[in-house]
Amino acid sequence: MSWYRNLYRKLHFDYHTPPSVPFVGKGLDPDRFVKKLAEIGCQAFNFFAKDVFGNCYWDTKVGNKHPYLDKDLLDEIVQAAKRYGVRVIAYYNVQDLINAQKHPEWRHRGHPNVPGSEGYYVCFNSPWTEEVLLPELRELANYDIDGIFFDFLYVHKPCFCNWCESLFRKEFGKEIPKSTDDPSWLDYIKWLRSINEKILTRICDVVHSINPEILIAVNWAYTPRQPAIPNDCIGYLTLDINEMRCPILEASYHARYFDQLNKPFEIMNTRFLRWWGDWGIKPLEQLLAECATIVANGGTCIIGDHLYIDGSCEQAVLDVFSKVFKFIRSREEYLFTKSVPYVAVLLSIPNANSQKRIFADDTPLRGAHRLLIENNIHHDIVTDAVLLDKIHEYKLVIVPSQRYLSQEIMHSLRDFVLNGGSLLMTFDSSVGDSDNFMLSDLLGIHLKEHKPIKLGYLLPLHEGLNKGIPKAPIFTKGEFLDIDVINADVLAYCLRPYIPSRSGLPREEWLGAGYGSPIFDKKYPAITIRRYGKGLVAYVNTNIFATYYNYDNWMLRKLMSNLIDMLIPEKLLEVKASPFIEVSLRRNDRYIVIHLVNWHVGRTSIMPLIAEHLLPVNNVSIKLKLKMQPKAVKIVPEDEGTLEWHYEDSYLYAKVNGIKIHSMIIIEI
Ligand SMILES: [Zn+2]
Repeated sequence: MSWYRNLYRKLHFDYHTPPSVPFVGKGLDPDRFVKKLAEIGCQAFNFFAKDVFGNCYWDTKVGNKHPYLDKDLLDEIVQAAKRYGVRVIAYYNVQDLINAQKHPEWRHRGHPNVPGSEGYYVCFNSPWTEEVLLPELRELANYDIDGIFFDFLYVHKPCFCNWCESLFRKEFGKEIPKSTDDPSWLDYIKWLRSINEKILTRICDVVHSINPEILIAVNWAYTPRQPAIPNDCIGYLTLDINEMRCPILEASYHARYFDQLNKPFEIMNTRFLRWWGDWGIKPLEQLLAECATIVANGGTCIIGDHLYIDGSCEQAVLDVFSKVFKFIRSREEYLFTKSVPYVAVLLSIPNANSQKRIFADDTPLRGAHRLLIENNIHHDIVTDAVLLDKIHEYKLVIVPSQRYLSQEIMHSLRDFVLNGGSLLMTFDSSVGDSDNFMLSDLLGIHLKEHKPIKLGYLLPLHEGLNKGIPKAPIFTKGEFLDIDVINADVLAYCLRPYIPSRSGLPREEWLGAGYGSPIFDKKYPAITIRRYGKGLVAYVNTNIFATYYNYDNWMLRKLMSNLIDMLIPEKLLEVKASPFIEVSLRRNDRYIVIHLVNWHVGRTSIMPLIAEHLLPVNNVSIKLKLKMQPKAVKIVPEDEGTLEWHYEDSYLYAKVNGIKIHSMIIIEI
């Protein structure tokens, strides 16, 4: 097992320094710096080998060393790290702006017909790779470093430079299409994605031929926006979450996704108020809640910081990190676990690959994740290969608007339901390029109309679906498909919106002026359920998860919770708590862990959402199916809440009070 798997306390120090800065590194004493890191409990840290400008921080003979750096900073850091027993990962940014300026012919080139394609950095397909990147890495791999963290090592914009054109022509016998509407645009996008893997393999070969122990990591590789099976040469997975969105949701979503990819992984958050472009300090409780979310979902923590321009470090921030590390350390003994299969949310790789964009739209996945989190339901986010491997261990599989599904997955879903599993599919899942659902017979419905209707209302028919919701049509600002029910029960109808004919006045399409008001005369089937073999299949005709993610209608969350209740009559784990408690169920051979993470933001007028003072949550009730009476049940850390429990008829019942940030219920088996 990789040493990396068990290092939960890591730091990353950004140090992008313009070449004009004369006092670069003058404020950094490597020995004192690393000694302090060791003292606060830091086990590994990312240190700059090469910044975004292309300045190298080691004595390079082939690259551009920072013009004012008068020592081999990387070497001094590495030597100090060895003295204090701390691991060092070299940070390497591939944008290399200095070389992009020196060699305009190596530069990425956008095209005016493709909006957003412009960018200023070197292209991987140019001679830069052979002339700069690989020679630099040969030097770097000779340092006693433990890993290399690559930043921006993926194609993130369409490129039309001469090198890309010539390679594309060699393979496809034609020019790169200059419009996203071009029929061969998707081929081009696939080709761009393949470049990521080619360059990574090349890098790994070079680095590992010198030192096979160096772990290679690529920021944002293999994430839901570019899903794929990780290359074997990758040492661990990593990403710095986008904190301009909700940091807690970002951390949880990506951790649950990475956790299924069978590689050690870390999630990077920062100490800043507004992410990287900022020198502020987050409230401690926010930082703790982020780290708790990461470790509760199988990840390890790495917190990002900036060095000041002279290379010095803010001591007060190190003191904050010290507190965070103490918090993590008090939980570490119980973190080496695997997620218990219960509910799976499928990310179909063929679906992501069918999108004509470099970064796939994963909103339905994000919405399903958020909705489940806020219903206190433990779940995994899985790709095709993982699901095929262990589908029968799950009680429920959710397919959230995944239009393209592989034949193997569809076969496996059918088999899963026949044998007693529950399946929930939404919107255009399995439609592919066809006129109907490919799984029409399994769902018991037909697709009547291909073109979605924008806006509508869900009208639950079944009492069970209406629990806790006002009995009014549920306003749903999403898209609806028109279906025919062949062999299923209708649990909810949908209503169409009233669209007045235009008379040329402004505000005629304003929802506040009657537009979109529900039409009650005619109802259309929206949510269906049927028994198939020993299992249950439900279908929802609106893109409910994406709508929940984008529009926040709490009634949709309740409705889906009620539907999931019907789909899982016998629950493995049932937690009753406020939507602010994230639940994760993990285990190893000796114990089961129920993680409860509390996070709720205060008032704010700007993003990102940050919590300054978390209020303890009480009255959390837990019911866990457990074949045998547990040897012991306890709460860890012991001052993070109180626990009462008893065991009866194959269930563990527990009540937890006073969850401040993160309580773990440890059940010895
Ligand atoms: Zn190019």
